[in-house]
Amino acid sequence: MESSIIGFSRGDASAKTFKAVNPANNASIDINYAMASAEEVDEACRMAGDAAIEMAQFSGCKKAEFLNALADGIDGIVEELVPVMTAETGLPEPRVRGETGRTSGQLRMFAKLVKTGNWVDARIDRAQPDRQPLPKPDLRAMLRPVGPVAVFCASNFPLAFSVAGGDSASAWAAGCPVIVKAHHAHPGTALLIGNVVVATLKKCNWPEGAFSLLFGEGRTVGQSLVKNKYVKAVGFTGSRSGGRALFDLANAREEPIPVFAEMSSINPIFIMPGMKAEDMDSFVSGLAGSATLGVGQFCTNPGIVFHPSGEFGEQLKSAYVEKMKMVGVGVMLHQGICDSYNQGIQKLTSCEGVNVEYRFTDSTEGKGSEAGPCVLSTTVKDFLEDSEMMEEVFGPSTLLVAYDDLEQLVKVVSTMEGQLTASIFGVEEDLTNDHGLVDHLEIIAGRILFNQFPTGVEVCESVVHGGPYPATTDGRSTSVGTGAILRFARPVCYQGFPDEWLPDELKEGNPLGLQRCES
Ligand code: NAP
Repeated sequence: MESSIIGFSRGDASAKTFKAVNPANNASIDINYAMASAEEVDEACRMAGDAAIEMAQFSGCKKAEFLNALADGIDGIVEELVPVMTAETGLPEPRVRGETGRTSGQLRMFAKLVKTGNWVDARIDRAQPDRQPLPKPDLRAMLRPVGPVAVFCASNFPLAFSVAGGDSASAWAAGCPVIVKAHHAHPGTALLIGNVVVATLKKCNWPEGAFSLLFGEGRTVGQSLVKNKYVKAVGFTGSRSGGRALFDLANAREEPIPVFAEMSSINPIFIMPGMKAEDMDSFVSGLAGSATLGVGQFCTNPGIVFHPSGEFGEQLKSAYVEKMKMVGVGVMLHQGICDSYNQGIQKLTSCEGVNVEYRFTDSTEGKGSEAGPCVLSTTVKDFLEDSEMMEEVFGPSTLLVAYDDLEQLVKVVSTMEGQLTASIFGVEEDLTNDHGLVDHLEIIAGRILFNQFPTGVEVCESVVHGGPYPATTDGRSTSVGTGAILRFARPVCYQGFPDEWLPDELKEGNPLGLQRCES
């Protein structure tokens, strides 16, 4: 029997339990995980509250030492991760290895960021005692950690957006303790990483409240966590209903707190009239690859493609169907995701004007959580009349939508919900502002791509993985890249402070050599 990690101790192993399920055959994996009790949730949060005060004073170097050591520790257990994670998620071994590298890479990226220190956005307004008509006081501001952060593991990124993934890495980098709610689909993977986190905290002399890992249901453990008074922010990746429930709960608290939930996006692709016929083949191959990557279980999966009507559109549709016929079934992450994929397709096909161009029909019953690709088609006119067509179908399906003119496309975008990405395919002249498509896309999307597919998110300084609701609950944020740290920090201004009592980042002599905004 395994139990939660509460600081440096383990939770009660006699509690109500659950088992993970192998989605390849839907058989239970024979390890019991004890769900955290209400007392254990409280204890983890109280310890995090205590640790927050100490951690807020950690230097960039101390935080970098921990993040780098954790990255090394995670790289060091990749062989242990492979059998556990493949059994719990159905993801293939290369994906486990690749995601391990992405996870350790993110930790090292944040280590570099905090070691350099410029992220704190130091601003200095020196005093002007002789200013008329009133003297100006000395004001200095920088970003400080918000306090304990609750992180919900994502089903589709068991490493890179789970226990020590992007949300946790950015919270620790900001100086915040982290309390993780494990995903029910991959508890063994979570525990392996959780043990590395604890060992690294001890090695680096961090307080035990810097991390806890809780097993249990979202509606009990997850909601108690979000309601706990010590928790000051939430990071989440998952369903729109789950993210929205947690957002509403956080806002109903006596002290409302920010929730950074990344939820739902159909990532539209717009094929412009300028696309050349000779580019169709590579587009179709690229689209099929992007739409079916990881059995379509990426938040940036392109679920809808707008193409010109007429002969070009018909050729594209046939070529795409032929390509998708070559893609077989794949194992989805868990039965719930598989069921909601099938329900999503069902819902789309019952919309007026939607045709099924291709659907993998081999019976997958009894074989596990398997699903195959699907291609549907409709026209802009029908699309605009039924908002259900804008809902995310999480899996390898594509809705092809034929349009007659660019005016229609702009109308589509102006009625569209917030998106993580929007992609334009065509020639440079298609970017002209005459029709205003790009201007409209800037309003709804976090990342706009030209002649590139949205999957394969680059983890770097400039990436934006966010977008207006329902892509996220806070369109001002990104959950990928160095900018993710800003979610877990807030500005504090020190007015009239003697130099020796200011944080090093704001001292007159600039001992850390930061880039600062000074006047
Ligand atoms: P999920 O059902 O939203 O679960 C994610 C986490 O949130 C789990 O820990 C879950 O707890 C918890 N949770 C869910 N509803 C909650 C609620 N009302 N109150 C408190 N906690 C709650 O997401 P999922 O299991 O990853 O996948 C389900 C669907 O989410 C997919 O079919 C897909 O549509 C969508 N999804 C979208 C993305 C994206 O990036 N766009 C990524 C993954 C999934 P439990 O452990 O109790 O379930």
